[in-house]
Amino acid sequence: MRVFLILLLIGQQGRATRLVGRIESRKFKAEGETNFGSGSSFDSQRSTFNSFNFQLELVMVAPGHCARIARSLSRKTGVINCELGMTKPFDVELGRLTGQESTPRLSPMNLASGRERGTFFLETFGCQMNEHDSEKVAGVLLARGYRQVETPESAGLILYNTCSIREKAAQKVFSRLGEYREKGEEKIIGVLGCVAQQEGENIFKRAPWVSIVCGSASYRKLPELIAQLESGNARVTGLDLDTDETFETEVTRRNNPFRAYLTIIEGCDKACTYCVVPYTRGPERSRASDAILHEVRQLAELGYSEIQLLGQTVNSYADPMPRRMRFAELLLAVANVPGIRRVRFTTSHPSDFTPDIVEAIESEPKLCDHVHLPVQSGSTRVLREMQRTYTREEYLEKIAMIRGANRSIAITTDIIVGFPGESDVDFAETLSLLDEVKYDGMFAFKYSPRPNTPAQRMEDAIPEEEKGRRLAILQDRQREIQTACHATMIGSTFEVLVSGKSRRDNQWSGYTSSHRIVNFASSGTELLGTYVQVRVTGATPNSLVGEHLAAS
Ligand code: SAM
Ligand code: SF4
Repeated sequence: MRVFLILLLIGQQGRATRLVGRIESRKFKAEGETNFGSGSSFDSQRSTFNSFNFQLELVMVAPGHCARIARSLSRKTGVINCELGMTKPFDVELGRLTGQESTPRLSPMNLASGRERGTFFLETFGCQMNEHDSEKVAGVLLARGYRQVETPESAGLILYNTCSIREKAAQKVFSRLGEYREKGEEKIIGVLGCVAQQEGENIFKRAPWVSIVCGSASYRKLPELIAQLESGNARVTGLDLDTDETFETEVTRRNNPFRAYLTIIEGCDKACTYCVVPYTRGPERSRASDAILHEVRQLAELGYSEIQLLGQTVNSYADPMPRRMRFAELLLAVANVPGIRRVRFTTSHPSDFTPDIVEAIESEPKLCDHVHLPVQSGSTRVLREMQRTYTREEYLEKIAMIRGANRSIAITTDIIVGFPGESDVDFAETLSLLDEVKYDGMFAFKYSPRPNTPAQRMEDAIPEEEKGRRLAILQDRQREIQTACHATMIGSTFEVLVSGKSRRDNQWSGYTSSHRIVNFASSGTELLGTYVQVRVTGATPNSLVGEHLAAS
């Protein structure tokens, strides 16, 4: 369904802002009007279409900021979230809507041309880092005058931001590309990310209708590649791995209106024998601490209260600035930015997890009480084969350090089952590790052999069926652990950042600082993006159920 959204902002410095909106699609038309005081969301109930209520969330707009935002960035992203179950991004042109189009834009490099360049559709596979890369890719395109659309059918440029961490993810991309075998000529199709880096120009052989192949380590070249396409080049590639730069953009089109992802370190210098990341994302490059803090301040001004710092090994951060800010210092500096209420970081590598990180969490409540610390296996023998650089005992020492904090910190992990040569004894050690650590959450994967990795050449492959059996046993054990852990939380009260509203009346959801999902009932009407106190009344293995305690 195609939907057009027209918004008009009428605001004055320091006063509540009135927002008039019109949504139009082939199926319905709706108009609404709202005043919103603080925060970034508002409800609109007035509609010319009787049975249709809608809620509009305008991202990154707070009263008093409108005029300034319109001057500095002419395009903003809106999210529509309505009773019909849509959650779709929109490109809202504030500059045009506020009549300030003639104001010079902050010109990102040579990008902003102002004229409509066409439409793009961007699909992302993989982890949060890929999602965030896509937010930056979308920013690059929006800044060039492209408009984002919701379906590949309505797009002129179709981009797939790909993941190759496991074979299945990579296969998915080729099956998507296959859909354009016949109709590829009408569209410009691009493959970005890890599959692009891994397969390189082979992609042109497998799918000759593809025009752009750009690996994750070459994203900073994307504006250049897009310009080459616009000037008529039929095929462009960005496949350098030896870059020492990070991918920074003037405009990032963030999907989540409350939590902002921010990559602080790209690539990976570890050499886990099963992993493609060092090949597809290149060597470690850390972003300058002052650039990070500058962006955090901007995000806080725009209304974001939660920041999630990202990196494949986020805690290996090495500040390139002369001040050499340590990772733990950076966490504290981010938390100290006015307006920031929560700081998360992922993924931490156990070998670089130092006591000062725990001390920082202990001392600063804004640092969330959650650490994601992938172990991969409970067997030291397998860990050595994986080249994980720690033993079971050393990993358990890190766990003891985190558990010893004067504040309870949730710990989650990643585990691979069926690594070549993993014996029943090795697997039993992984199970016993679950019992010992009692993780608050776990992501478990069947080992997937990846091209160019040392593990691909290892002997004693475990049959797929056996991998599946081990995975099921592991997941059952973890479910029991989470069920027991969540049951102890009934009766407790947590602060929840409200991030979702269910279609059912009065039902909301959000995350605790420890990253537990809480579904709760509330008679509140404008809770999205706010922090509320919720008392837990029930629990499932994967989430908590609760009731909103109204502010006293
Ligand atoms: N850098 C992070 C770390 O070292 O913990 C992990 C990043 S990776 C994107 C996320 C997870 O994918 C890993 O922790 C690992 O469990 C899993 N993974 C990576 N390569 C894999 C493979 N070849 N087969 C199965 N799972 C894999
Ligand atoms: Fe891959 Fe290991 Fe680097 Fe994580 S630390 S990205 S698993 S090589």
